[in-house]
Amino acid sequence: MNFKSLPQLLDYFKEEKTCIEYYEQIRWDGKPVCPHCGCERTYKTTRGYKCANNECYKKFTVTVGTIFHGSKISLRIWFAAIYLATTHKKGISSVQLALDLGITQKTAWFVLHRIREMLKDKAPQMLGENNMVEVDETYIGGNNKNRHYGKKRSQVDNTLTNSGEVYQPKKMVVGIIERNGKVALKHVPSADLNNIGALISKHVPKGSTIYSDEAPVYSHLKKYYTHDNVKHSLNVYVENGVHTNTIENFWSVLKRGLYGVYHQVSAKHLERYLDEYSARFNTRDLSSQERFEKFLIDSESVLSYKRLTNINKAS
Ligand SMILES: [Zn+2]
Repeated sequence: MNFKSLPQLLDYFKEEKTCIEYYEQIRWDGKPVCPHCGCERTYKTTRGYKCANNECYKKFTVTVGTIFHGSKISLRIWFAAIYLATTHKKGISSVQLALDLGITQKTAWFVLHRIREMLKDKAPQMLGENNMVEVDETYIGGNNKNRHYGKKRSQVDNTLTNSGEVYQPKKMVVGIIERNGKVALKHVPSADLNNIGALISKHVPKGSTIYSDEAPVYSHLKKYYTHDNVKHSLNVYVENGVHTNTIENFWSVLKRGLYGVYHQVSAKHLERYLDEYSARFNTRDLSSQERFEKFLIDSESVLSYKRLTNINKAS
């Protein structure tokens, strides 16, 4: 198999049986594991498998415990949806996906959220080991008339503005990006040292070089990092390679996508959309097929018994 386009993918995955065998290979390396108890002894049944552990003895198929669990649409359509959602640079709306795949918009909305669950980074991206990083924060959404810098805003969604429309407060996002590399994003309640400092220490090894603008919160970085800033307030944007253009460019792609494709994103779901944009960006050098397989490996949406015990062993 080698697909470079949606028709090629659909040709290969013509039969549901092919999808199941392919996914069994990706999820289990072809050796079924009971998703209920982690037992590796199983029987083949007509519709799937049965656990051989006497205390469990449950039936299962390869989709149990994954983003596909309990879904009424075929794996073929799911695979096409994953392909479309991860190939479109700015994302795809549920309205568009529904039209493309002949499913209802409600189903498409659900499918896209499950795909975002799959795209979530299971281990934090480490940035700055090989290259300098830029850090910056930006605001997403909010009603235009409330976009005055420094104005106090209600933190409560769904309150009404004077003109009666639903008030959408602006949401702050912090981004750390590696030049020619990967990005990590987080929705934070405010740009203070607690939020930003925690995010940086999670993703950037101490001693790395970080560039930012002159916001006071970044002055603390000097303690653990080589830090320099650009003085946007003095209209200086690049000085001796010190700039934040990489993250600024990323913000413009993110915003064109969020506003153009998804229009309004509520605070409740913003983190999921950030997962989607960062996953696509961080795999931009892979081929369509490599990207598709990489994401499918992460399609267990709930922690399986095996993964859980592995995590316990590691800690
Ligand atoms: Zn079992």
